[in-house]
Amino acid sequence: METRNTYIGNIIHAAKSLLTGMRVTLREFFTRKITEQYPENRSTLHIPSRHRATLVMPHDADGNNKCIACGLCQQTCPNGTISITTKTVTDEETGKSRKVLAEYHYDLGACMFCQLCVNICPKGAIEFSNEFENAVFDRKKLIIKLNR
Ligand code: SF4
Ligand code: SF4
Repeated sequence: METRNTYIGNIIHAAKSLLTGMRVTLREFFTRKITEQYPENRSTLHIPSRHRATLVMPHDADGNNKCIACGLCQQTCPNGTISITTKTVTDEETGKSRKVLAEYHYDLGACMFCQLCVNICPKGAIEFSNEFENAVFDRKKLIIKLNR
């Protein structure tokens, strides 16, 4: 009896799956189709804002960024895509020394777009941009200095 129930249940389940699939197919069949005329017509191109195209370091109007040169993003990156160099500066008023960012290099050609670096950053100093037109003929040009 149990076998029969399972057998009939499987048939009903299969029929439901088939109907679900056919419903999706029919809906898409009658949905208006959109053809992106890329690259000729970039004005119709839609790239989702959350698309991870390249890592960027936003700067404010004075050219400052939020990076504190902690190195967490560099340590977290699984394949060495980020390379940070730091320097020590001395505060003229207090006389105290502190480490600051000298250069922040990002290799777009090596990046896996996993976003671990963005997630680990304690200051929100880096983020992904959806600017995707980054093709070059020389891979060296994909190594980008993110800080100004
Ligand atoms: S997205 Fe991933 S691979 Fe790319 S720089 Fe960040 S941690 Fe490294
Ligand atoms: S980008 Fe963020 S995680 Fe990376 S060094 Fe700067 S503050 Fe630290």
